[in-house]
Amino acid sequence: MAQMHSFQHDVVIAGGGPTGLMLAGELALAGVDVAIVERRADQKVMGSRAGGLHPRSIEVLDQRGIADRFIAQGEKHYVVLFCGVVLDARDRPTRHNYTLALQQEKIERTLADWVSGLRVPMYRGREVTEFAQDDAGVDVGLDDGQTLRTRYLVGCDGGRSVVRKKAGIDFAGWEADVSYLIFEGEMAEEPASGMRHGPRGVYALGKLGDGERVRGVVTEQRLERGSEPGIDELRDALTAAYGSDFGVHNVAWLSRFTDAARQATTYRKGRVLLAGDAAHVHSPVGGQGLNIGMQDAVNLGWKLAQVVKGVSGDALLDTYHAERHPVGAALLEQTLALTGLNRGDDRTTALRAMMAKVMQWDQPRRWYTAVMSGLDTCYDLGEGHPLVGRRMPDLDLVLAQGPVRLFDLLHDARPVLLNLGTSGRFDLPGWADRVKPVDARFEGTCELPVIGPVQTPSGILIRPDGHVAWVEESRTDTGLEQALRAWFGAPRV
Ligand SMILES: Cc1cc2nc3c(=O)[nH]c(=O)nc-3n(C[C@H](O)[C@H](O)[C@H](O)COP(=O)(O)OP(=O)(O)OC[C@H]3O[C@@H](n4cnc5c(N)ncnc54)[C@H](O)[C@@H]3O)c2cc1C
Repeated sequence: MAQMHSFQHDVVIAGGGPTGLMLAGELALAGVDVAIVERRADQKVMGSRAGGLHPRSIEVLDQRGIADRFIAQGEKHYVVLFCGVVLDARDRPTRHNYTLALQQEKIERTLADWVSGLRVPMYRGREVTEFAQDDAGVDVGLDDGQTLRTRYLVGCDGGRSVVRKKAGIDFAGWEADVSYLIFEGEMAEEPASGMRHGPRGVYALGKLGDGERVRGVVTEQRLERGSEPGIDELRDALTAAYGSDFGVHNVAWLSRFTDAARQATTYRKGRVLLAGDAAHVHSPVGGQGLNIGMQDAVNLGWKLAQVVKGVSGDALLDTYHAERHPVGAALLEQTLALTGLNRGDDRTTALRAMMAKVMQWDQPRRWYTAVMSGLDTCYDLGEGHPLVGRRMPDLDLVLAQGPVRLFDLLHDARPVLLNLGTSGRFDLPGWADRVKPVDARFEGTCELPVIGPVQTPSGILIRPDGHVAWVEESRTDTGLEQALRAWFGAPRV
């Protein structure tokens, strides 16, 4: 690959799925020249993948002022499922205390429209095939022979990530134990609708809205590999599970997934970063993959923007791994636990019933519904007030100009220094070009998921991803300047 000298883009993203699109939007909002290279010619998603957005994902979209575009297309469900048991989740302290049922293709198309409005160039119908990084940048090779020179390359190119493999980053974890077939087709006989637990896992059939087609997931008798199974394999799996293949025919799509759980050992290697499925894969049980990928992107976007613009040193990028790798690791463990609990042997059935009872008690229910919503994420930013490291709730504030929601202040993806004390206390000319000071009044209660109501600090430094970097613990607190330097670079005089 020929080495180039001038940069075509500050950042190239390999892959325009949900993670790559979200990241591109975040970078473009911060004024970074970013481009996406996407293998697919358009945003069509083959088959059924994610079916919805969880509360924290809707919150991050709300932080950018685009949540309504998604909400208008979806259906709200104020519950969380635990192994088939419905848990009431209305009491989660968030404006978006529901899962929004919305197919992945609609989510992607809506993100793509947003990104297109931000004028992000897309190299469509092309693949990243190789790259070489040096001290100053990365030469990214595409399958049509073109090379793009960029400062940073981000692999958002899915579970089989070429970027991860070519970077030599290990994908450590658990081998697959069970494989599943997922399909949509017609059936000559009435299918056995609903969810069942078999010895190897959970399986289900259900009629689609048109009453003609059936969508289903069925466990296979043996672990099989290969992403393109045949119709005979589907017939065998249905017969083994139900004693009949229900005369399945006209199969519009058929795919295989497994319960393998793997995670990249590092999310960064020099100028190459990974996000979304490229960084972690796991069984779809719990419906978390797309949501976690979008949240990876929101954590990385502002940091990468600051490094590209020379506001922060590149060590800021290491905090992306430090914060998001533990979130991915915890997710892998949750999916392993849920996959295990979904098995249908007698002992696991008894364990599942016991756990389901526990999950309906108030505290475990609050904990589980917060975990599955992405609302409990807390980055390790040190001891102190419970807000530090957590996502800032969307408080109803009153500014001199009138009422405003806290999330409205984050629409332009800039850090906010919220002053709920005497007006004009924070005079920080060194950061005036980066940090937005906001004087406001707040008369409500600040409530956190699982923890409950907390004392509202008089000063709060909020990062562009909505997480709290610092709170004023007392009037003599001196940590603000330290926090500003750590997260938003040295002051400019
Ligand atoms: C059956 C099933 C059900 C699921 N259900 C849920 C659910 O309910 N909830 C949930 O949150 N998640 C769910 N998921 C997971 C979810 O689909 C993924 O986590 C999500 O798509 C990950 O997004 P991504 O952008 O990281 O990767 P992908 O969606 O895989 O996107 C990667 C993109 O990169 C492109 N690409 C790949 N290689 C290259 C290359 N070399 N160069 C350029 N482009 C490239 C691809 O075309 C693709 O567009 C499910 C997955 C499956 C399989």
